[in-house]
Amino acid sequence: MKKNKRRSRAGRESKKTGRAGPAKKTWRAGPAKMAAKSSNPHRLVRVAQTVLPTKYGQFRLWAYQEKGKCGAGGEPEGPTHLALIVGDVRNAKRVPVRLHSECVTGDALGSLRCDCGPQLEKAMRMLQAHGVGILIHMDQEGRGIGLANKMKAYALQDRGLDTVEANLRLGFVEDKRDYSSAARILNDLGVKSVLLITNNPRKIDGVRKCGVDVEGRLPLLAMPTPNNATYLKAKKEKMGHLLE
Ligand SMILES: [Zn+2]
Repeated sequence: MKKNKRRSRAGRESKKTGRAGPAKKTWRAGPAKMAAKSSNPHRLVRVAQTVLPTKYGQFRLWAYQEKGKCGAGGEPEGPTHLALIVGDVRNAKRVPVRLHSECVTGDALGSLRCDCGPQLEKAMRMLQAHGVGILIHMDQEGRGIGLANKMKAYALQDRGLDTVEANLRLGFVEDKRDYSSAARILNDLGVKSVLLITNNPRKIDGVRKCGVDVEGRLPLLAMPTPNNATYLKAKKEKMGHLLE
């Protein structure tokens, strides 16, 4: 990874405060080492550090919240992202990392319209099996268009459009996800380089553009079902996913 000559404020704070870090740390958008190319104006605040025992094993859980620009009425609460951490990742290279975008229907409701639920479960199991790794659960539902719009897209898909066509019909780009917050979280965790757990080459490009050193890819294949066959086909043929 390229090193900036000038250390970022976040970087200086990490060095000064050591591993445990302050309970709350704030970045201004700008020259953070792994987020040097972020154009987002928001700040990201680490709001909590705790643990999460799960049926897959125990994770350390660090929570981050995006904050809008300071206004007279205070700071509106932005999306909350979670980092689930296994093992010692600080200063580590080739850390397995899964970036999972929230999918209420798939993750919580057991939807078979997509493969998010099984992918989340598989990634959590993978990280526990590796003994080291990070899952970043990103608060960007429906590839960033939000839950209400995702439901509208589903309604269009009921009428025969695929996942990409539906997003375009609603006036969105096919993938509105933004990885700059994930890059800043990896920076805060002190990760030097990652092995990205993904089937999506565009995600690798997107993450690299945010300044993350992606050294390789680990595939994550979930079982196709009759319900998600069209969705997976669109992912493969229109979005370039590597599903074999
Ligand atoms: Zn989903």
